[in-house]
Amino acid sequence: MNNKQEMTYPLGTRPGDGEALEVCDGVLWVRMPIPFKGLDYINLYLIEDDDGWTMVDSGYNSEEIKTLWVQIFDKYLKGKPVTRLICTHFHPDHMGLAGWVCEYWSIQLTMTFGEWTFGRMLYLESGGEVPDHLIEFNKKVGFTENMLNMVRKGGFSFFKNAVHNLPPSFIRIEDGQEISISGNSWRVIVGKGHSQEHACLYCEDKGVLISGDQVLPRITPHIGVYVSEPSANPLEKFLNSIDKLSSLPEETLVLPAHNDVFIGLHNQLIYYREHHAERLLRLKNACGSPKTAFDLLPILFERELSENNQRLAVAEGLAHCHYLVGTGELERITGADGVWRFQIAQNVKTAVA
Ligand SMILES: [Zn+2]
Repeated sequence: MNNKQEMTYPLGTRPGDGEALEVCDGVLWVRMPIPFKGLDYINLYLIEDDDGWTMVDSGYNSEEIKTLWVQIFDKYLKGKPVTRLICTHFHPDHMGLAGWVCEYWSIQLTMTFGEWTFGRMLYLESGGEVPDHLIEFNKKVGFTENMLNMVRKGGFSFFKNAVHNLPPSFIRIEDGQEISISGNSWRVIVGKGHSQEHACLYCEDKGVLISGDQVLPRITPHIGVYVSEPSANPLEKFLNSIDKLSSLPEETLVLPAHNDVFIGLHNQLIYYREHHAERLLRLKNACGSPKTAFDLLPILFERELSENNQRLAVAEGLAHCHYLVGTGELERITGADGVWRFQIAQNVKTAVA
């Protein structure tokens, strides 16, 4: 594990708005803005096929991005149509314009079952008043009354606004499936932890991995526990997914969804392991007495967090706590106030025959 490979960014440049840059033969890189602070751009890719293009991810739902796409369609597709849209996962910066792209080109959306159903569920569920179960979950997590009011005020339409008419049907892809594009085979590698059933695409012939949000340079993918699965253990799933990607060659050119195209996959996977191990250790040391996920924020994050970032950070803190509950090192107790607290497990787990 000591022979760390340097992270390199071989292109040394990025495509501008409304432009595409050839990453390798037949693969174009496009960048689109995201209307959030901190996550300013998403990378999207176009793979040339014999009679069209396969597009990977669609961008956030906005009029500006639709206009940029039309510019790119006109300028870079050599007169050929987009014949397939694969979305790596349901997050709105990836899936937001899926419905619009599918309508524009009269095609069906291609995704894993877990991602399409989860995105479709959120799309149908969202809208109207904030439901009671979300408030109850946030109370358990330890939100202050002030933050609960913010949640109520924020409404429940975020996902519906962030995506354009999410397609009611799809084409399923699965882990290990090979997709043929212009004679090259692209293997679907499903990763978990960041989202339900995230699809990465690996082309051995080209030595290229389109990694979505599963592997990102410079930052770690967000791994959080949310209301739909309050006892989830996504960090365990994420670390298992890393094992899968470690078998790809070290020199693989990685095309991530944020930041720059890079070489250094193994380096980044080792960094993720070290990063999470260090945070888990900090948590264990802090849980000598019971702590809420909120109490643990300064243990996990050195910087000041905005209120919105606090919510993401609490989700991330819960993911780390649940990992340690999974290993039996911490236990989650519910206080008389209904709030979850984590502490060093009092009863050592014994094997049950
Ligand atoms: Zn994501």
